[in-house]
Amino acid sequence: MEKYGIYQVTIALPFRLNHVHCYLARQQKGWTILDAGLNRPETQKTWQEAFDRYSINPQEEINQVILTHYHPDHLGFSGALQTWTQAPVFMSKEGQYVAQTLWQPSSYERLYQFFQNHGLPLPLLKQMSDYDKGFQSFIRLPEQFHTIEEGQKIQLGELTYEAILTGGHAEGHLCFYNEEEKVFLGGDHLLRRITPNISYYGHGEENPLQVYMDSLQKLQTLDISMVIPGHGPVFHDAQERILEILHHHEERLEIVLDHIKGERTAYQICQSLFNRELTLHEQRFAMGETLAHLYYLVEKGEIHKKAEASGEIFFSR
Ligand SMILES: [Zn+2]
Repeated sequence: MEKYGIYQVTIALPFRLNHVHCYLARQQKGWTILDAGLNRPETQKTWQEAFDRYSINPQEEINQVILTHYHPDHLGFSGALQTWTQAPVFMSKEGQYVAQTLWQPSSYERLYQFFQNHGLPLPLLKQMSDYDKGFQSFIRLPEQFHTIEEGQKIQLGELTYEAILTGGHAEGHLCFYNEEEKVFLGGDHLLRRITPNISYYGHGEENPLQVYMDSLQKLQTLDISMVIPGHGPVFHDAQERILEILHHHEERLEIVLDHIKGERTAYQICQSLFNRELTLHEQRFAMGETLAHLYYLVEKGEIHKKAEASGEIFFSR
């Protein structure tokens, strides 16, 4: 990717998924940053080392910061980068909206209510809310966002890329594609070693798995020779990987169906699907993923969803 003027900056994460790839793109004049990392001192140190490595004066030579999506490991440090570099921060309109509303107390309350309705036990909810309070420091929003529209052409390093909206993993997720060299900056939409997490948390798109599959299919018409991703290795077999991921979800949907015995809450189904000890962070992803599959199946008419007067929600076949 260096021959295209793109340089990978890998930033450590304190999770099981222990890194995120951000990028520096060298233009004729100045540089672009693609994705920021979590807001924490380790991230600042890594960016400082990267600026030193390429002899970049961040105040004068970073022209813009572009975010593929609003997830904290990609967006968290963008506020700090804006202050540091004085550069504008760009993202999709949809992504900006989620970023500006999601980490508000009222959104957390809605999420806990949503989880409670889906059977998550109160002690676990309490732990989750304590964890979230600690998590807040990982996110520092920029003071202002600027917008990248679908179809917009953007110079990144040597090449010009077209912005493609690819929802599902995150609302308003952007990928960037260069047709001449068939290079694809994929963010978290298309990963090689792990399957991008598709979660439903009761806000935004009600069937994110459908959105994800649709936006994967949108890529099937593209000739891609290199995927430069947000996590894991750079890879070249994009179309094979798309088929693999689509197949993975079909299999997963079958497995979810098998775990719906009688009337069960999403939490009960989640527990039987993920039959191991989960950290709080993983528990949330596991619930989100289970809910994305369940809501997809409801939408397809394959299972039923019933809400009690108490608010509690049950799924059955
Ligand atoms: Zn993500």
